[in-house]
Amino acid sequence: SALRDTRTKKTKTVCTFCGVGCTFDVWTKGRKILKVQPTPEAPVNGISTCVKGKFGWDFINSEERLTTPLIRQGDEFVEATWEEALSLIGRRLGEIKQRDGADAIGFISSSKVTNEENFLMQKLARSVVGTNNVDNCSRYCQSPATDGLMRTVGLGGDAGSIHDLASAGLVIIVGANPAEAHPVFATRIKRAQKLHGQKLIVADLRKNEMAERADVFIRPKQGTDAIWLAAVAKYIIDQGWHDRKFLEEKVNGFEEFAASLDSYDLATASEITGLSQEQMIEIATMIRDADGTCIAWAMGITQNCGGSETSAVISDLLLVTGNYARPGAGAYPLRGHNNVQGACDFGTLPVWMPGYQLWSDEAVREKFATNWGTPLPSTRGKDNIQMVEAMHDGTLKAMYLMGEDMAWVDANSNHVQAALENLEFFVVQDIFLTRTAQYADVILPACPSLEKEGTFTNTERRIQRLYQVMKPLGNSRPDWQIIQSVANSLGANWNYESPGDVMVEAATLAPLFAGVSYERLEGYQSLLWPVAADGTDTPLLYTERFATADGKANLVPVNYITPLTATEEYDLLLNNGRLLEHFHEGNMTNKSSGIQQKVPTTFLEVSPELAAERGLQDGAVVRLESPYGAVRLNVLVTDRVRGNELYLPMNSVSDETAVNLLTGSHRDVRTNTPAYKQTYVKMQVLRPR
Ligand code: SF4
Repeated sequence: SALRDTRTKKTKTVCTFCGVGCTFDVWTKGRKILKVQPTPEAPVNGISTCVKGKFGWDFINSEERLTTPLIRQGDEFVEATWEEALSLIGRRLGEIKQRDGADAIGFISSSKVTNEENFLMQKLARSVVGTNNVDNCSRYCQSPATDGLMRTVGLGGDAGSIHDLASAGLVIIVGANPAEAHPVFATRIKRAQKLHGQKLIVADLRKNEMAERADVFIRPKQGTDAIWLAAVAKYIIDQGWHDRKFLEEKVNGFEEFAASLDSYDLATASEITGLSQEQMIEIATMIRDADGTCIAWAMGITQNCGGSETSAVISDLLLVTGNYARPGAGAYPLRGHNNVQGACDFGTLPVWMPGYQLWSDEAVREKFATNWGTPLPSTRGKDNIQMVEAMHDGTLKAMYLMGEDMAWVDANSNHVQAALENLEFFVVQDIFLTRTAQYADVILPACPSLEKEGTFTNTERRIQRLYQVMKPLGNSRPDWQIIQSVANSLGANWNYESPGDVMVEAATLAPLFAGVSYERLEGYQSLLWPVAADGTDTPLLYTERFATADGKANLVPVNYITPLTATEEYDLLLNNGRLLEHFHEGNMTNKSSGIQQKVPTTFLEVSPELAAERGLQDGAVVRLESPYGAVRLNVLVTDRVRGNELYLPMNSVSDETAVNLLTGSHRDVRTNTPAYKQTYVKMQVLRPR
C-alpha cells in the first residue's frame, strides 16, 4: 500500500501554513510522517514551531485527496487520463481565445504554491494565452499594504527581518492577531519583552492574546485607524519630536503631509475613533522614547474601504519619526499565506511582472518578449474582483484557477458562486474537491508542498527551498509540471526539467532576484530579496536609498476614507479572522485529525453585554443575516469582544456557517480588496442556550 513502510528518511521543508516561513525536518517512512523536527539551523524559527506546523499534516494522506483528473459530464465528474484532460483544456481554451480574444480568459494563481509555479502561471497567461488577466489571493488580503508601501518607500515587503524586529524598542501591532495567525512571530515578540523589555502597543477591536500582553491596548472604532495614526503624527510634529535630519536628507513631501494633518488634532481624532486624547499622547511619547519602532499590521487594516490609505499613513508615521533603514525599525506587513509574498514577487498580478516590473513599461515588456520569444499583451489585466464582475457580464468566458477556494474565500460568496456558474469553461487545479472545484469542467489533481520541490518566500522576503518529502499521491502531479503541460497543450514548447530551471529564468529577467540560485539556497540557507548578482542579499531594506526614482521616500498626505457604519436594521458589526488551530478556510486543517478533534467547528463570539441584552448563553444558536446572505451559528460569550461587535473565525466551508456568505461587495478604494471587516449583520435568536 501507499503507506507501506520503507526506509526512514528526513527531509527539509518549509511550513505551508503561514507567512512566518518556519523550516524543519520531516521524518517519514513511505507516506507516513513519523515526526516534524525543528532544528537550530532554521533561520526564522530555530527550534520553535506552532501546532499547525507540528501536527497539521494528516491532510496529505486524506481519502479526499484528488488523485486523478476529472472531466465534467452533465452533473457528474468522470475520471480521465491526463492526456484526455489536457487535450480538452488545450482545445477549449484555444477555441475561446480564437473566438473571443485572449482577454476572455482569466488566470487565478495561488499563494500556497511555489515561486516557480507562480512564475509559470503568469508566463502561461501572458506569453502563451496573451492576457494580463492574472491575479492571486493577495487581492483579498495584502494588496493595500503593498500599495501603501510602494507609494511611500517603494517596495511592498517587510522593512527588515523578524530578527531585526525582535531588537526594536517598541512594536506596534495594528489590526493583526499574530498569536493565532503568525504564532512563531508572536513568540519572538514575547521573548523580546522578557529579554530586553521591548514595549508593545496593540490596536485592535478584539482583545486578542497579544492585547493582553501589551503595555498599551487601544480599541479604535472599526475603520478609523488612519485617524489616530494621523493624530499621533501631528502631535509628534507639533511637539517638535519628529526626526528633522532624517526628513531633510531622505524624505520628500513633508510640508504637504504636515498640512494634511491639520484636521486631525487630538480632540477631533478622539471624537472619531473613540480613543482618549491621553491614549494618543501616550503612544506618541512611547514612540519618542523608544530605541526603534516597528509597526506590524494585517487584515484588520487592509480589509477596509480605506485599507491602502491607512497603510500609507502607517508608513508616514514611521518616516516622520525616522523609523526606517535601521535594525529594529520599519514597516512589517504580516503576510498570511505561506507564499503570498512570493506569489506577488513572481508576477501573478495584473499590473506587475516578476520582480515588481510594471507591465505597462515598454522596455520591460520588450525584455520579457525577447526572452520568451512571444509578444506580450498590451491591454491592462483584470484583478480577481474585476474577473468576477466580468463573469457576471459574460465578457470573461473561461478561467484557469490553481489552489484557491474562491467560492468561499472571496467576499460575498453567493455572488461569486453565481459568477462561477456563468463560466463557459472552467479549469480548477487543487489537492481537494473544493466548493470552487464543483463548478469546474476539468479538475486537475495537484500535489501539496511535501510532494514537490521549489521555493517559498516568507513575510520577511526570505526565499527558502523545500525538498520533496514523498512522491505524488496517485496520479496527482506537482503544479509546475501541470502548468507546463497546459502551456504545451496550447502550442507552447516548454521544457523545464525542474523548478530550478524556472528560477534560473526568473533570476535572469528580474533584477530583484539576480543572484538567487538553488546552490545559494541549499539546505537551510536562505536569501532575502533584493539579491544582487554576486549573491548579496538584503535583510534590512533602504540602508542606502529608498526604492524610489530619486532614492528618497515620499510622505503621502492623509486621505481618510470614511468606513461603513451600522444601520437600524443591520445593527451589529461582524469582525472575522483566523484561529490558531486552523489554516484559513480550513480546507487542509479540517482534514488533519488532531486539529479537527481540537476545534471541530466554528462559533460566534458575542460580548457579555450583548448576550445579556439578547438573553444568550454559551451554546445558544443564532441566525445572522446581512444584505448578502445568512448563516446559523453557536454562540460563545466572551469579553474578547465588546458591545455590538461580533467575531466569527473563518475556518468554515459550509453552507451553514461560512463567514463570506455575509461579507459584501464594498472594497478598498485603491486596490479593490474586499472590505471584509466592515460587515454589518442582524441577529435572530433561534435558541437562547
Ligand atoms: Fe507554520 Fe506559521 Fe506555525 Fe511557523 S508559525 S509552524 S510557519 S503555521
